[in-house]
Amino acid sequence: MTPVILVVTEKSVVDLFEYQGKQYFERYDIPTPVGDVADSVEQALAVAEGIGYPVVLKAQVKVGGRGKAGGVKVATNAAEVLEHANAILGLDIKGHVVERLWVEEASSIAREYYASFTLDRANKTHLGMLSAQGGVEIEVVAEENPDAIAFLSIDPVRGLDLATARRWVHEAELDEPAREQAAELLVRLYRCYVEGDCDLAEINPLIMTPDFVVKALDAKVTLDENASFRHPEWNAFRATDTTDPREIMAREKGLNYIGLDGTVGIIANGAGLAMSTLDVVNQVGGTAANFLDIGGGANADVMAAALEVINADPKVRVIFVNIFGGITRVDDVANGVLEALRRVHIASPIVLRLDGTNALLGREILEPYLSDTLITEPTMVEAARRAVAFTQGA
Ligand code: GDP
Ligand code: MN
Repeated sequence: MTPVILVVTEKSVVDLFEYQGKQYFERYDIPTPVGDVADSVEQALAVAEGIGYPVVLKAQVKVGGRGKAGGVKVATNAAEVLEHANAILGLDIKGHVVERLWVEEASSIAREYYASFTLDRANKTHLGMLSAQGGVEIEVVAEENPDAIAFLSIDPVRGLDLATARRWVHEAELDEPAREQAAELLVRLYRCYVEGDCDLAEINPLIMTPDFVVKALDAKVTLDENASFRHPEWNAFRATDTTDPREIMAREKGLNYIGLDGTVGIIANGAGLAMSTLDVVNQVGGTAANFLDIGGGANADVMAAALEVINADPKVRVIFVNIFGGITRVDDVANGVLEALRRVHIASPIVLRLDGTNALLGREILEPYLSDTLITEPTMVEAARRAVAFTQGA
């Protein structure tokens, strides 16, 4: 039995690619090197020619340590761009395959610093971290040289003013010529973090060039999904987040869907129940094709959207609908399923387990439509067995 492990956090967040993070920084006037994205070797060359040499080619994957993994290379001419773009595109960095490059003007580096803002939940404040020892992972600095990090607790009501930022860069012992620019940049980064609804805004390295210009050479931004209602511009970030066509389709329909490799399509209400459903399907010898929590809104639209997404997955042999009615009423779910079946032709058999509020009524509504391929079972395990049997050709 293959265990299925899913991490579903209560607080949902969106990690940005470096280039998206830099574009986000630009909205708040945080200086970053000029650059553009490239999805192919040819595009990389075109961008490089437009910028002028030297340029840096950077793998766009949502994982740190790209530099060490060979995902960050300087090119001083066209031939080197071709060579490095070829090497980096398709490179596997800690399980993330590089599909996109960020090509930017190369920077000369005199010093590498570290700066970030994040939430200190225990303390109910924001937490700023600043260090003159950047360029390496902050965890390593924290371990080996904890005194090299200047922590700043920020009262969310009072915010961060320039005077405080000036004291902070002094305390962190940033080089004298970098301090004023860094203080101003930190105030902007804080604004980006708060107004931009970030969970994390991190710059590593924040650099000072030999001619004393301070700018963000890397960007790690995590957005707080709970604030997405006030950021329509975030849609652009989501669109490029996944390349799984099922997940893209699900997202367009507003579903909380994660594609997996198995053959049993799953629709459940509530993340906890959806996970239990995965476990039970596994226990009885099946494999889940997806994780899908339709939440409390199990109406016909949501049901039709869910069935459509699962239906579009060619691996799916059966669909297991597992609903425990609470605030969601099972009769609404039943009507939703019927309405969805009228709208979408579903290729796979459907096994339903409906329990909780108005379960009896729900089953009565479905009764006249039940068939060899539309089945209800009274318990989760029985329904899982029935569903898995379909995948085994029974
Ligand atoms: P990460 O390894 O994923 O954190 O990627 P970074 O964007 O932080 O780049 C890693 C390292 O590459 C940086 O710490 C720099 O030392 C180096 N680097 C990145 N861009 C440039 C550049 O424009 N010029 C130079 N000289 N080094 C760079
Ligand atoms: Mn970095």
